[in-house]
Amino acid sequence: MSLRLPDATATRRRPRTHDLDALVVGAGGAGLYAALELKRDLGPEARIGVISKLYPSRSHTAAAQGGVCAALGNTEEDNWEWHWFDTVKGGDYLVDQDAAEVMCRDAVETIINLEHLGLPFNRTPEGLIDQRRFGGHTRNHGEGPVRRACYAAVRTGHHILQTLYEQCIRHEVAFYDEYQVLDLQMPDGVGGPVTGVIGYQLATGEVHSFLAKSVLFATGGFGKIFKVTSNAHTLTGDGVAIVYRRGLPLEDMEFYQFHPTGMYKLGFLLSEAMRGEGGFLVNGKGERFMERYAPTMKDLASRDVVSRSIYQEIAAGRGIDGKDFVHLDVRHLGAEVLNKKLPDMSGFIRTYFGIEPLTDLVPIQPTAHYAMGGIPTDLDGHALADERGTRVPGLYAAGECACVSVHGANRLGTNSLLDILVFGRRAGVAMADEVRRAPDPQPDAVAERAVLAGLAELLEGMEGERPAVIRAELQETMFAKCGVYRNGALLEEAQADLRRLRERARHLCVQDKGRRYNTDLVEALELGFLLDCAEATVDSALARTETRGGHAREDFPDRDDVEWLKHTFAFRWSEGAPPRMAYRPVTITKFPPKPRVY
Ligand SMILES: Cc1cc2nc3c(=O)[nH]c(=O)nc-3n(C[C@H](O)[C@H](O)[C@H](O)COP(=O)(O)OP(=O)(O)OC[C@H]3O[C@@H](n4cnc5c(N)ncnc54)[C@H](O)[C@@H]3O)c2cc1C
Repeated sequence: MSLRLPDATATRRRPRTHDLDALVVGAGGAGLYAALELKRDLGPEARIGVISKLYPSRSHTAAAQGGVCAALGNTEEDNWEWHWFDTVKGGDYLVDQDAAEVMCRDAVETIINLEHLGLPFNRTPEGLIDQRRFGGHTRNHGEGPVRRACYAAVRTGHHILQTLYEQCIRHEVAFYDEYQVLDLQMPDGVGGPVTGVIGYQLATGEVHSFLAKSVLFATGGFGKIFKVTSNAHTLTGDGVAIVYRRGLPLEDMEFYQFHPTGMYKLGFLLSEAMRGEGGFLVNGKGERFMERYAPTMKDLASRDVVSRSIYQEIAAGRGIDGKDFVHLDVRHLGAEVLNKKLPDMSGFIRTYFGIEPLTDLVPIQPTAHYAMGGIPTDLDGHALADERGTRVPGLYAAGECACVSVHGANRLGTNSLLDILVFGRRAGVAMADEVRRAPDPQPDAVAERAVLAGLAELLEGMEGERPAVIRAELQETMFAKCGVYRNGALLEEAQADLRRLRERARHLCVQDKGRRYNTDLVEALELGFLLDCAEATVDSALARTETRGGHAREDFPDRDDVEWLKHTFAFRWSEGAPPRMAYRPVTITKFPPKPRVY
């Protein structure tokens, strides 16, 4: 039988080439702030492009609800050094303190700058930017909670994204919407320079070659490696996996944050702002159990602590009706707070559970939320080629796909929006500098051919498994065996599961052979990225024989500063083989590691 495959053959054409000065992959907050800074720095003539697999305003930054923090001290006394300390302690002392210092100090100016760009923050009666409480943010090095999160109702991320997008349009940044980047152009191999990317246009099925003197990855997180997650379907770790495949390291992948208040079974996030405004957790016996685990901060202890406490209650049989969830109680907050300050979450509860938060208790369970690890960078967003800090010329990373590392082993709420803004902007400045000096970029013919061949193979394959089946098993494995609690035996099982899944993923069946918006093909491509991210996570987790922040080992329950006060660098040297691990010391400038109590 002969089959006509007009659409598959279309991917074999020579790619169309776009020449740019600088290129940003990802149109979330990190990417847009970098693009804006590049335009401002290099002037209106500069050719600055943003490629995004989503229409920009659909980036996950838009889903961020609760707030972005800065020690403005608008409603009570605050100090950026207290914020710095909280960030270091929240990260269980794995934070690079020089990076956190930059972030917390620059936070104040960054928020004011955003306000001047047009962001409609909530106001105090005096007209200042209002601030609310969030987990782990304290007064005077841990005395009690402080109001540090600036917010725009519960649509803070949405407004950040809209504000930056408007500004980028105003400054004539070129947008390539709905192009999925599949590889880097790195003609001289692993050490760089990076000279561009290869993208797949979703609307036409065509492959495009983008050349630029400097490239930023701002591709967001990879929560979709887990079954229950707050992350959007699109958060499949593409940028992280692409870098890893090219032999560059991934840092601290074992540290993944589970947010305590996901909606039971659905995983959708109920922002920490609900506890910041006064909500609290109760177990099956009606007890406010966080008082036992964190006597000072209670429900506003850091997320890793609260998520583990929930699991301990469940393990002790004190879940609701003995099941695997507990309750969030917000009834006492009243209609004014629930409907005006927390409208989206109250709406989610009414819509998805069909219950009334003013009168009913809300079922919650920890949900996979945030990647502390990712592409290692220095303070200016330069991607690193190794644990010694060698830069990859032409390549930058910022936002959730990057690891600076300001979050260490556990991120504090509202510090991610801050991270994407501060380090997105800094990367833009550093890239502008490189654009002025770098030679014209050369194409990577090998990468072009490999992308075209890979697409053709997927489209021509007639037999094999559906990507969705393998993805579901991957997510199940990761949630059950590499979740809030881990141990050596479970992680080894996860490793073996992933090896089998990778083998099965060699033979995928992409049923849609069409060219336009082939989501079937996209799912197959994204499955590959998910497998790479999951593999780096499990292998890094197995190697780290201690408990720290978001990485809790039942078989090694204590933090081990003698052996493990260091960052993991995982390198893939051959597909399917375990990665090579290297380690880099943590930068400690001010706060010596101490036991962590809340
Ligand atoms: C529900 C939810 C609520 C949150 N609430 C808060 C909060 O209140 N405060 C806080 O500080 N943090 C919060 N976070 C975390 C925070 O929102 C994210 O970490 C942050 O917004 C990530 O921004 P980013 O710019 O790195 O990436 P994203 O906003 O995720 O954007 C990624 C971009 O990369 C593009 N992309 C990805 N892969 C490709 C590819 N292969 N080719 C082309 N483009 C690609 C996408 O199209 C997208 O434009 C929340 C997260 C979630 C999920």
